[in-house]
This record gives sequence, structure tokens and C-alpha cells, in this order.
Amino acid sequence: MKNLITLCALIVFAACSSEKKSEATSQNQDAAFDAYKERFILHLWELYPGWASSQGFHNYDSVLTIPDEAQRTKELAFCKANSDSLKTFDLNALSDNNKTDYHLIEGQLTSTEWYTTQFKSYEWNPSEYNVCGSFAEMLANNYDSLDTRLQNFYLRMKNVKAYYETAKQQIKNPTIEHTQLAIDQNLGGISTFDTDLKVALNKSHLDAKQKEQILARAKEVITAINDYANFLKDLKNTTPRSFRLGKELYARKFEHDIQSSYTADEIYKKAVEHKADLHAKMFDITKELWAGYMKDKKMPEDKLVAIKQLIDVISVKHVQADSFQTEIEHQIPRLVNFIKQKDLIYIDPSKPLVVRKEPAYMAGVAGASISSPGPYDKNGNTYYNVGSFAGWEKDRIESYLREYNYYILQILNIHEAIPGHYTQLVYSNQSPSIIKSIFGNGAMVEGWAVYTERMMLENGYGNNEKEMWLMYYKWNLRSTCNTILDYGVHANNLSKEDAMHLLVDEAFQQKAEAEGKWKRVSVTQVQLCSYFTGFTEIYDFREELKKAQGDKFNLKQFHEKFLSYGSAPVKYIKELMTNSK
Ligand code: ZN
Ligand code: ZN
Repeated sequence: MKNLITLCALIVFAACSSEKKSEATSQNQDAAFDAYKERFILHLWELYPGWASSQGFHNYDSVLTIPDEAQRTKELAFCKANSDSLKTFDLNALSDNNKTDYHLIEGQLTSTEWYTTQFKSYEWNPSEYNVCGSFAEMLANNYDSLDTRLQNFYLRMKNVKAYYETAKQQIKNPTIEHTQLAIDQNLGGISTFDTDLKVALNKSHLDAKQKEQILARAKEVITAINDYANFLKDLKNTTPRSFRLGKELYARKFEHDIQSSYTADEIYKKAVEHKADLHAKMFDITKELWAGYMKDKKMPEDKLVAIKQLIDVISVKHVQADSFQTEIEHQIPRLVNFIKQKDLIYIDPSKPLVVRKEPAYMAGVAGASISSPGPYDKNGNTYYNVGSFAGWEKDRIESYLREYNYYILQILNIHEAIPGHYTQLVYSNQSPSIIKSIFGNGAMVEGWAVYTERMMLENGYGNNEKEMWLMYYKWNLRSTCNTILDYGVHANNLSKEDAMHLLVDEAFQQKAEAEGKWKRVSVTQVQLCSYFTGFTEIYDFREELKKAQGDKFNLKQFHEKFLSYGSAPVKYIKELMTNSK
């Protein structure tokens, strides 16, 4: 008996002291990992100067890397060295913030390795070679004086010719779609080195000789771009690769890009089931609302046709073009009040969202978007950009306003602003991580925004009006069908005809929108799945927790805890949240 007590005491004591010891190593591990992250980022920027500039790190603005075998060898060596470095850390001893950073770095390294050695899009996607966007950014953004930016612009142009010469050597059996895209985008970007550059030079304080030098070099750049476009036009591509990835490659890309706990197959099956479920719910509402909106008109036999007709009639309720922005401004405080009233998540009142008219350089991208400051611009504002209808034809405006009708506009504000993207950003800034701002998980970010749409309605936003739910289901069908489309096209050989049927008849999209989607799916892969995948993972996780915790489940706590991990893949957040209980 006595021995037993002593033994117990010993064990307790041992546990205590080992806890202290592991706490100490934890601190050491975290400090060491923080230092490692800083070195990692600096090396990353050295290796990818263009990426560095786009993230607001401007030390390498004058450098343009040549996309050749030597560069890829360097990148692979970087991956190998850093994978080895990661292994020296004890993942379990790190803080939650560092654990997720660890996973993000690891994911980035394995993904780069896979892209370079397996995916090899540098051979078949000629649109990967394009310098215009990064040069355009140097003219448009005000991070430094115009004169300095123009000097870097000049130095950076030096390698453009070699860049495109190398590009030509890399390309083997490209897809027809990416070849056309490369021609269009490269030629479309030439104005950067012509009219846009001249406007910038006129505003600068450079002397005449400097301006002349810059323009002379810009002329060579334009020749190099035209050369590349002509090379692509003349290419005797007798055995072009299909733009469809095929099942195997698609499955791997899905793993690397999304980092989901579901496979691509599983998500596809879930999306197909979800579509059927949405259709059934929409038809129930249609039956209830039909007589009120359609009077004596007979309801069509075809359920989908009936739903579509009702949607068209309800969509006529919309704001006028000139009050589009003010309506958005008015809705923001209403959303905040609703969230407070229902106790859904804490909204920091010291960080109000700035709604503004879309700045000129973004013009053309209609609708609404959030722009947040980059990782090196800590004091920058976050804006809610609202597109204007300047220069639009009357019919186009009307069609747009019906699409973003009274109901959908509110769902859009939930998604983009509160408690969607903007709220997520505010939370992620509380545990700042440069790793997460660079490698942040897109499926988690989009999934959260899509999740909040449903969560708000479930909690009574919109007074449970049938019209609101109907429009929400239509909106949700979009991301659901995007997933079916993407997987269908790349892994199941879905034809264009069937794709159009899916989008127009089953997801109620306009023909023009559906055509645009087809174009997008033929030059991108997996990205269209990120919304639905993230949404499904978050929603399923919440439902699991609810079931497990019963009465103890608290929605507000769930939201705040979930967001506290920043933009990490949902599967890692889930792991950490489950273990911390
Ligand atoms: Zn109208
Ligand atoms: Zn979004």
C-alpha cells in the first residue's frame, strides 16, 4: 500500500517535471522555428524575385529570372534543403500558430516538387510565360517613388528577350487552349511597354536621356513579345496535349492545391448529392410561392423549368444602378447588428470596413471584392471595392442588377464582408503570420465565406423568407456546380454540351456566364472546386462537433476558435481544435 502511494506520487512528480521540461523545449523550439521562418522567407524571395515584388517585398524589383532548367534545379534544391530543415523540428512541441505554419511550408515544398517533376506545365502551358502583369504592377502601385520604380523597370527589362527565348525552348506539345490564351494575354499586355509606360514617363522626373534609354529598351521588349506570339501562332503542333488533366493528375493536383481531408472523388460525389438536395428544396419553395407570383399561370411539368421561371420573376426586385453602392453601405451595419443580436461572432468595432468605389486600375471587374494590404504593408486599409456601371449598356446593367437582385446582394455582402472574407481577415491578423499571408489556404478562405452565407440564413437572417432561401439555394448551386464541372471536365471527360446543360438548365446561369465558365475550366484546374470543398469541410466539421458536444456546443465559440488559427487548411484546424478539447 505504502509503496503504491509512493509510486503514484513519483509518477505525478515525474509528470510534473517532464511537463516543465517540455514547456522549456517548446519555447526553444518556437524561438528556433521563428528564426527558421525568417531565413526561409528571405531565401524564398531570393529564388522568386517576381513573387517577392507581388507580395510587397521590393528588394529584387530589378531582377527577372530566366525560366530554364537551371532555375528549376535551384528550386528543387531549395525544396530538398528546407524539407530537411523542417524535419529537425518537433512538430508537437510547436505552438498552434507555428504548427499550422509548419504544415503550410511543408505543403508548399512538396507541391513545388510535384509541379516541377510531375505536373510540368512549363512544357504544355505557354501562358505561364508572360512578363506583362508584373511590369504593369510596377507602374500602377505606389510603394516607391515613380522614378525609382521606372529605374527598376528599366533594369528588369534587360532579361525579357532571354526570358522569351528560353520559353520557346521549354514548350512541348502544348494544349491548343493554353496556346491561344498565351497569345491573347501576351499581346494584350503590350500596352504596358507602350502607352502606359509613356504616361508614366511623362509624370516622372527622369531626364530626356534616361527616358530615351527606357523607351528604346521597351521597344525591344515589344519585339520579343510579338516574336513569342508569332512563334506560338506558327507552331506546328501536330500532337497537342488535351487540356483535360485526366483522373490521376487531377487527383494529385487536388491534394496539393486544396489540402483537404477529402479526396477529389469524394468531393465530387458530395457535390452531385448536394445538387439533388438543392433542387428538391428549390422545388418545394417553388410550389409554395408559385400562385402568389404567377397568378393563374400553369406550373410547367419540368421541375427545373418551373424553378427557373419563378427565379426570373423574383429577380426583378433589385436596387437601381445609381444606388448600388449606397445600398451596400447601408447593409454593412445591418449585418453587424444582426450578428450582435444573435451572438454569432465577436466583431471588432475598432476596425470598420471601408466601402469605396472600385479604383480605376481595377475597372472592368464588375461586382464587389475585398482588397487587403499585403504582408509587408501592415498599416494599409482593407477596402470593399464596389464596381461602377460607367460605360455599360442599359441591357447589361439590367441583367447584372437582376443577377445581384435584392436577395443575392445581401448574400454577396455576407460573403465578401461580414461575417465572410472581411471578418476572417480581421481574425487572421490577430495572430499575424507572414507564412499564412503568403501560402494561406484558398479553400479555407473561400469555404469560410460560403459557410457564413448558410449560417446567417440558418440563424434567421432575412426573416426566413422563402424568397431569400430560394435565391440562396441558387447562389449555392453555383459553387456546387462549379465543382461538378471542374471534376467532370478534367477527370470524367464531360462534353461541352453536357457542361452547358449543367450550368444553364441545372444551375440557372445565363448563357454568357456559362460560356465564360467553360473557357475558365479549359485553362484552369481544381481552383473552381475550392469554394465547395472548403464549405463542405467546415460545415461537416461543425455538425460533427455539435453532435459530439450536444448542449455544450456554442456557435459563437466555435466561430471564434475556428478563425483564430488563421488561413490554414481546414483539416489542420480541425485536428488542433479537436485535440485542444
Ligand atoms: Zn429592373
Ligand atoms: Zn470569396
